[in-house]
Formats: sequence, structure tokens, C-alpha cells
Amino acid sequence: MARVRLEHVTKRYDDQGDVVTAVDDMNLDIAHGEFICFVGPSGCGKSTTMETIAGLTIPTEGEIYIGDREVTNLPPKDRGIAMVFQNIALFPHMDVYDNISFGLRLRDYPQDEIDRRVERAADIVQLEGMLNRMPEEMSGGQRQRVAIARAIVREPDVFLMDEPLANLDAKLKVHMRTELQRLHKELDTTIIYVTHDQEEAMTLSDRIAVLDSGQLQQIDPPLTCYNEPDNLFVAGFIGSPSMNFVEGTVTETTLETPNFSLEFNPSSIEGVGVGDNVTLGIRPEDIYPGDLQSEVPDPSGMITATTDILEPMGDEIFAYLLLGDGETSMSQELATNDQLLMSIDPDSDLEEDEELGVVIDRRNVHLFDSATGEAIVHDLIPYEAEGTASSSEVESDD
Ligand code: ADP
Repeated sequence: MARVRLEHVTKRYDDQGDVVTAVDDMNLDIAHGEFICFVGPSGCGKSTTMETIAGLTIPTEGEIYIGDREVTNLPPKDRGIAMVFQNIALFPHMDVYDNISFGLRLRDYPQDEIDRRVERAADIVQLEGMLNRMPEEMSGGQRQRVAIARAIVREPDVFLMDEPLANLDAKLKVHMRTELQRLHKELDTTIIYVTHDQEEAMTLSDRIAVLDSGQLQQIDPPLTCYNEPDNLFVAGFIGSPSMNFVEGTVTETTLETPNFSLEFNPSSIEGVGVGDNVTLGIRPEDIYPGDLQSEVPDPSGMITATTDILEPMGDEIFAYLLLGDGETSMSQELATNDQLLMSIDPDSDLEEDEELGVVIDRRNVHLFDSATGEAIVHDLIPYEAEGTASSSEVESDD
């Protein structure tokens, strides 16, 4: 059983006299058979964390366990892992069979065992009938499948994959994503997967580990990261297009922002006090044109806005809204407080430069402490709302 644990793993590099902390006190507990994605912007420490698990990098501090064994200082070959990287390094002069079986032949596995493993792996990644092809005769996706098959034949306890789809075109990426999910179902092994692509992380993972500046920000199932982000970083990183953020101040009865206010009772929410500076987080799909107010379960009051740019996406339209006097154009750098991105129905007849009222689904308004960035609550239902628990009651279950 390949549970993977990182305990207080830190990796510091000396970069020409400057200390760079690539991984900062990382604690992870990954269950056997889990598909975990490390996600975060470039430089956040994803690859370094992965390399410490692989044994390509020895941590400065902390311990790593795979299964029951501590492996912190073991070489990669003794860890029961197999790796797949972004750059598919196949041997150009070897056919698919030889590429897949290379490692096994190197370790002197008996021929019938090699055949058995290659056949099974080729079957899993759907390369049957292609074993005699040369890499140059294959597409990028097929070559990546050879690389995955080469990892499968090692029958590892843990697969480590570092941006394996990054070099594939968009269509192939989506296809390979599905293949990886099938692979995971079929193999019942732990997969740890590095990507900067949050969409990939959302679709593949059992849990997403969101990293920033070498630190773990949140590790949770994709929808928990989406619906209940622990902090502003996760809220802004997960979801495309990003969550809208608006600065606000808490009063006795409202949350005041530069362009609108939301009624609520601050005493009903633990961690909020009158005078506090908070950041509201609102996803584009939780904003609705005001004429739909009756269809929105828990609408805010009407907020006046002007449409700026409309972007039809086929299945939805992104409407960039200007709040307040609407003088600035969205194409310029705007104060976040004065803009909202709303996602609406593709058959909406909304036009550019149209004044309208919009409402927000209060069940999905997130509040963050502006100073620390920590999430306070994930709904802003008025205290009096009928048939709903107050937010503090919901929160106190945690
Ligand atoms: P990611 O995979 O998220 O893009 P990395 O793990 O590659 O991030 O890098 C994390 C940080 O560590 C970055 O600031 C990077 O510049 C630094 N770093 C990585 N490897 C080295 C190294 N060998 N020497 C110095 N700094 C490094």
C-alpha cells in the first residue's frame, strides 16, 4: 500500500549567496490510490516537492515516507516510484516495444515477464498494434502514451507525473486527460501529478494541493477548493475566469463596498466585527442580470452597472461590468472595486454599454479577512433569511 507522507519537508537552495526556499515546511498525507495534483503558479515549488518524493532532490529538512518506509535519503530506484515528465525522452532508434521494455531489460527481467508487462501496458494505454513503430512515426499523444507505458511496466507503487501533457495541443490534452483517469481507475496506484493548469487539476484529482511560495495553501477535493477556498490565493487561483474580488468594510447592518452595499448582520458571523476590512469574493456565475432576480434563490439588492465588453464563449457570455460612474474602460487597468465579471446565458440579448441592475446569489458570496487573506465565511445570507441557518451555525459544524 503506497501511502505517501511528507513531514515538515523544506528545501532551500543557495542561489548565488541568496537563500531560496523552494518548499517551506510541507506536510502532506496522501492515501494509497489517491490521484493528487500539485497546482500553483510557476515557481511555487511544485516540481521541487515532487523531486523530493522522487529522490531527485534531498530535502534540507523533514522526512518522506512511501508506504511504511522512510525514503528521505534513498535513491530514486529504491523508492518504488516511476516518473513521467513533460519532455518525452524516447530513444529515437528504438521501436515502441524496445522503448517500453528498456528498463526491464536493463534489470534482466525474464523475457516472458517482459512480454507480459509490455502487452498489459500497451493495452492500458491503447498502443496495441503499434509496438513495432518508431517514435518518429507517432503523434505527440502517442509518444506520451509510450512514456506512460514505460512507467506502467515498472509496476510502481507511486506514479509521479510532472506536467506530462504540457507539450500537447489543446484537443489532445483533453483526450489524454480522460486516458489518465482511466489509467488511474485501472491501476489502483497512487498518482502524484504536477500541473500549473487548474483545469487539469480540477478534472483529474481526488484532491488538489494548491501551493504558493513553497507553502501548501489548501489540500481538498476539487469542488471544496472551488466552493470553499481557504484563502484569497486559492479563491483567485481555482476557477476560470477568476473570482471577482471587491474590498469592503463591515458596519452594524451592512457590508459597504465603494459601489454597493449588502445587508447582513455581522454578529451572525464568527470572525467579523464592525469596522473590519474584508474582501468579498464573487464568482462570475453567481452574478445575474436583475430581471432574473425572481429566479435567484437568495438575491442581493440591485447593484447598478454598465456593460463594457461582452465575450461570447458559445455556452456562456462573459460580461464585463463597470460599477459606479462607469467612466473607466475595462481594457485599462481598473481598480478591482469598480468592475465585476458576470457569466450569463448565451442567448441573453444584453448589449455593450447598456445600463442594468445585477444581483448576486448571496449563498455563494465569500468573505475574506483583507489583512490575512483567510476565508471567514462562504455565504452571506441575511440573518433573517427564512428557512436558512445563519452562517455562524453553518461554520460551527467544522
Ligand atoms: P514550480 O515547479 O512550481 O514552477 P519549482 O519547484 O521549480 O517551482 O521552483 C521553486 C523555486 O525554487 C523557484 O523560485 C525556483 O527558482 C527555485 N529553484 C528550483 N530549483 C532550484 C535550484 N536548483 N537552484 C536554485 N533555485 C532553485
